[in-house]
Amino acid sequence: MSDVLLSGADRKRLSVSLPLFIQPRQRDARPPPCRRCGGTSWWNGWRETFPVVATAAVAVVERWQLSVPLGKCSCCHRGFTCYPPGFYPRRQYQLDVVADVVAGVVLGSEPVAHIAATVTASVTSARRWTAWVGALTRAGELLAAAAQVDASVATVALPPPRCARHPRAAAVLAGLEALGAALARVGVAAVERTGLGRVLGWQHRRHGDVYGLVCGPRRFSSAMAPGGRPTTP
Ligand SMILES: [Zn+2]
Repeated sequence: MSDVLLSGADRKRLSVSLPLFIQPRQRDARPPPCRRCGGTSWWNGWRETFPVVATAAVAVVERWQLSVPLGKCSCCHRGFTCYPPGFYPRRQYQLDVVADVVAGVVLGSEPVAHIAATVTASVTSARRWTAWVGALTRAGELLAAAAQVDASVATVALPPPRCARHPRAAAVLAGLEALGAALARVGVAAVERTGLGRVLGWQHRRHGDVYGLVCGPRRFSSAMAPGGRPTTP
């Protein structure tokens, strides 16, 4: 399964407009035990990825050349990838970049083309990301999860701004921010700075869940509480 989907217009835009920052190769002495059978595993090479990542400044992005280490189980022979913290699988544009663009699209007044261009994405990508966020879950579920994570702060469901171009995506984005802030308050470590990045990154690290645009589950399974994955779907 490829982590990088370099194709079409995005590739052309990236190659000319973003400098490449080569990241040093890093891995532990040994890979973690197999997640499926618990067996010992061994390192099995690297995979080159080229993610577009957010910087501390909104709308300033960098393109990285990042080698991710591959492990393989000596018992069941399952191969797996060890992602560094903050790296979300199967996305060229990482989650904080996507969150910034979607926020601009749903809440801003700038043309979508301008917003997409700030991160060298296409208009099609910006629209697809917005639809994806809007369909990810219900804002109410996120606010309920935020209250469960941190009951000390009452989380109030605010109606999305009337001027929002995509009220549903705006509401989901606000819910993600609320849950991401609650996670940060209770000390769940995250390198991501947006709600979308923190919440999906946390689900990935904790449960191994990946929410892809083109494959895998498209919606939350409501496994958002710190207690873990529910026993029934
Ligand atoms: Zn195994």
